[in-house]
Amino acid sequence: MDDKTLMRTAIQAREYSYSPYSKFRVGAALLCADGSVYTGCNMENAAFTPGICAERTAIYKAVSEGKREFQAIAIVGGALGHKALSVTAPCGVCRQVMREFCDPESFRIILGTGEEDLHIYLLKELLPLSFGPENLEPTQAEEEDRNP
Ligand SMILES: [Zn+2]
Repeated sequence: MDDKTLMRTAIQAREYSYSPYSKFRVGAALLCADGSVYTGCNMENAAFTPGICAERTAIYKAVSEGKREFQAIAIVGGALGHKALSVTAPCGVCRQVMREFCDPESFRIILGTGEEDLHIYLLKELLPLSFGPENLEPTQAEEEDRNP
């Protein structure tokens, strides 16, 4: 799937946004390494804390169905009833969740207001000096201490 089609899919996913409080609707479309696509929208809650972003919705849907390798995500957001007027970047929490499952060197984050306005970043650009799963892997010295 090309970037324009992925963005179109994110725009369609945005229609399902449940955002009665902020009125800010976000859609995301996640491209998996096998070519499948998972969509997400933001969902708010009267208690606020249980709400979730579109990006994490898409990632968690994919992971919950066994997907672990991802290539790109398209993200679009904007006020209720309006076309996106500016790009919507992922929040810090979503960037960290991307870091858990995506290669910072190659995972592409596609921001835009429409199919003809794409701004493409690598995860490493939006989350520099990040903390990831390999930070918790034992070092060679620790391995040798455990298994002399
Ligand atoms: Zn987020």
